[in-house]
Amino acid sequence: MSGHRHNAPESDIALRVKAIEQLLTEKGIVDPAAIDLVVDYYETRVGPRNGARVVARAWSDPDYKARLLAEATPAIAELGFSGLQGEDMVALENTPEVHNVVVCTLCSCYPWPVLGLPPVWYKSPPYRARIVREPRAVLAEFGTRVADDVEVRVWDSSAELRYMVLPMRPAGTEGLDEEALAALVTRDGMIGVTAL
Ligand code: FE
Repeated sequence: MSGHRHNAPESDIALRVKAIEQLLTEKGIVDPAAIDLVVDYYETRVGPRNGARVVARAWSDPDYKARLLAEATPAIAELGFSGLQGEDMVALENTPEVHNVVVCTLCSCYPWPVLGLPPVWYKSPPYRARIVREPRAVLAEFGTRVADDVEVRVWDSSAELRYMVLPMRPAGTEGLDEEALAALVTRDGMIGVTAL
């Protein structure tokens, strides 16, 4: 895939981080379990809540949704989310006809400002290979059944483009405000492996 640049320096940074973590652990300065807790916090709690607010705004405000789908980076920045690994964002709208799902086939490109840190499975070789080859089977393993008449589109992230999925707003949520709507949105829904 020519022109598909990723973040070669990341592996070097990851090695340095590991070396520092090991040194701090050996000296008894940090507890690796505490580090795992912090990583989990950013992976599942803090990070994806930003994306959930973007989705809730798009569900609530048709003008905002139009801006998000036309040019995601500035629309996301309107809510204060921008920066490293989120410079060139694209929002993919799920519809009754199309279900979108995101991968980085070559490494682990991921939209940090809206989703936080990538989950381990997102970085795993089996997900990266299989979601392209047999997306419906992989989605089913996440508990997501996509009807045969719905097209599944798989989007390959890169250093240039980071994707987030705009899930379909669930029925029966007309009365909810943005905060309540955001609480319905999950990280996996914004990666596209689940419906919401
Ligand atoms: Fe990548």
